[in-house]
Amino acid sequence: MKKKDHPLPHLRRAVQAGFTGFCLFAGWRFYLFYQWAIGVRAEYVPRPAAVEGFLPISALVALKHLLLTGRYDPIHPAGLTIFIAALVMGLGLRKGFCGWICPVGFTSNLAEMLGRRAKLALVPPRWLDLPLLSIKYLLLAFFAYLILWRMDRQAIEGFMISPYNRIVDVKMLYFFLHPSPLAGGIMLGLLVLSLALKNPWCRYLCPYGALLGLLGLLSPLRVRRDQEACISCHRCERACPAAIPITAKTVVRNPECLGCLDCVAVCPVDSCLEAACGPRRVSPYLLPALTLGLFFALWLTAKTTGHWQTQTPLPELRRDYSLGLDIPHPR
Ligand code: SF4
Ligand code: SF4
Repeated sequence: MKKKDHPLPHLRRAVQAGFTGFCLFAGWRFYLFYQWAIGVRAEYVPRPAAVEGFLPISALVALKHLLLTGRYDPIHPAGLTIFIAALVMGLGLRKGFCGWICPVGFTSNLAEMLGRRAKLALVPPRWLDLPLLSIKYLLLAFFAYLILWRMDRQAIEGFMISPYNRIVDVKMLYFFLHPSPLAGGIMLGLLVLSLALKNPWCRYLCPYGALLGLLGLLSPLRVRRDQEACISCHRCERACPAAIPITAKTVVRNPECLGCLDCVAVCPVDSCLEAACGPRRVSPYLLPALTLGLFFALWLTAKTTGHWQTQTPLPELRRDYSLGLDIPHPR
């Protein structure tokens, strides 16, 4: 098979599209459930727990609660499960969650592909790129300081049972359905910027990705380049959604690496650019297989052990959702 026909990038797009489609479907079902809960709609629709995957702050608090008390979050258990899955993936499989699962990454990738076809691609100079790269780490440090350092057990437990945390999923729904002019402008600006820059949200602003990237430094899976075989065509760098200078390295150990393996797929020289686990070459399909296998294994475990659906009784959910938007953020 010629390398240019490598099916891996097509497989990645299909997997990303599948997860994005599922997230849109879950969002739609959640909207219907919410309408039923506040009495606008008569027909009951089960609440899709997967929407909790969009509550990473709540999940970080819940993770600290789990570590302090040994008790699993009963309010947004699916959010905690998805967060743990992403962390485990980060440790073993680089940013496989970002590269293969996250719908924001997929949207960003599509925008960048469109921009490349329209010849809009911009590469920020290093002096600008480096400070911009640090923003997401500063945001990560801010949340880690607030939640992991400042919040003691009492504050964590108080947040977990607070009315705000119980309806934070509805707040998130409203954020997307009725964004403020500022939030809407920022989202639109990022989308337009994604046409010209490679993944600006993921690359510069996402603290979730920053955390997974740092964990990914411990992962034994990496991309390896044979310097002798390389013909310096730079196709790998043009394909890399994380804008990593691959030809300057023999092993890619960069926290920005998504584990997408687009670079391996486009390299025209056999055995020049490969996926490796430590010193051993591995199939490029191993990373997506393990990423998806781990994700679904944790989902199945959570589902079959009662750690997926919220334990909040429906009448309480209906009461909280009816108050929803009037509940302020806890101080
Ligand atoms: S270095 Fe390769 S695997 Fe890592 S993000 Fe770039 S293209 Fe993907
Ligand atoms: S695509 Fe392969 S041959 Fe071309 S520069 Fe990258 S590693 Fe070298």
